[in-house]
Amino acid sequence: MTSAPASGHNLPPDPLLDAAAGIETTADFTRFRQRDDVFTRAFWDDTVRSKQSDAFFASYRMDANPRKGEGFQQKDFALRNAAWLVSDIISNRSAGDGVREGFQAPIRADTPVAPVQVAIDDPARMATEVKRIARFFGADLCGVTGFDERWIYQTQVDTRDFSESPVEMPPGMTSVIVLGHQMDQPLVQTYPSALAGAATGREYSHEAAIVMQVAAYIRNLGYNAVASMNDTGLVIPFAVKAGLGEYARNQLVITPEFGPRLRFSKIFTDLPLSHDTPKPLGVKAVCDICTRCADACPVKALPFGAPSAETQNRSAIKGVVKWTSDAEKCFGYWAKLASDCAICLRVCPFNRDFSKRRNRLWLKLALSPLRRLALWLDDQSGRAARLKPRDWWAG
Ligand code: SF4
Ligand code: SF4
Repeated sequence: MTSAPASGHNLPPDPLLDAAAGIETTADFTRFRQRDDVFTRAFWDDTVRSKQSDAFFASYRMDANPRKGEGFQQKDFALRNAAWLVSDIISNRSAGDGVREGFQAPIRADTPVAPVQVAIDDPARMATEVKRIARFFGADLCGVTGFDERWIYQTQVDTRDFSESPVEMPPGMTSVIVLGHQMDQPLVQTYPSALAGAATGREYSHEAAIVMQVAAYIRNLGYNAVASMNDTGLVIPFAVKAGLGEYARNQLVITPEFGPRLRFSKIFTDLPLSHDTPKPLGVKAVCDICTRCADACPVKALPFGAPSAETQNRSAIKGVVKWTSDAEKCFGYWAKLASDCAICLRVCPFNRDFSKRRNRLWLKLALSPLRRLALWLDDQSGRAARLKPRDWWAG
């Protein structure tokens, strides 16, 4: 295995920024290899691959529908798989080259970098413009942070034989634009179900289009831009450093706008942009006294204790002090369901519609010293209850 060459324009980590983002690494920190991602392991590692995991992937085609219960009927899979369609078209278009765009490799550029470069004398103004453009194309949140090689995968895989090669980033990338994509709340409330997977699939399809369009805009300005979904690097540390939210026990970034109900994508670029800073909200103090996600996880894949550098298996990055799930247990449950599970997202007290005043008031309470009262109120409200798929279909 070869290690990755220096990519992008890497600056030494800023300890103050790391502290503000809650990022703590230890001496045995090692960049993550994409081959160890549990979804990638399901193709090459017999300790993860099973008949159920094969059926999980097959269920994304309508010729295989392994379950029949409520929320897992043909119309549920039909909606979920339709929601994934645009993402699937992008991720499959280079399959012959061993490249699964957006998942095991960045999205290939469809637009050359313009030969004439627009002069940018005010990176702060440019960052404001980029955020406006991201919203124009449909992103719900946008933040900008510095390129940080620690979170770039050490290697990426060729999906034909799962061999590894270094992640190659164009030289001189200075910034990461992080985009947030809100998942549909009523659908999320039906987790676990194949129906709920439509909330995930719709955002993958949205984000594929949005990162491609924002990257094309930047390339048309004469600067480099690499559109990225789950590929190339871990998005969570970039999202936190870009000030979009705070990392939580359920492995998600909790935002003041949408709680944990978001997917994130990213664009690596050399466009001159000013950077946002982390904005700690007080979520960690809530997670310190709340284990609702860990309690609700059917396979007990989430940790109950304090953040630590302990990992359960090779599908977790080494040397980062944080809450880390057992990805093998989690994926095993997804395979059993034949769809994604996000019970830990549904039950999280921050999973609320913050466009409503009463939920904004609850957020203030939760992020104050009265957080125990906020959790008690959440328990009393019945908010975490599962919406029956038949009730979702009934509208
Ligand atoms: S997604 Fe489901 S299985 Fe995985 S950690 Fe969350 S609740 Fe547990
Ligand atoms: S359920 Fe509780 S512990 Fe889990 S992420 Fe949400 S607030 Fe944190």
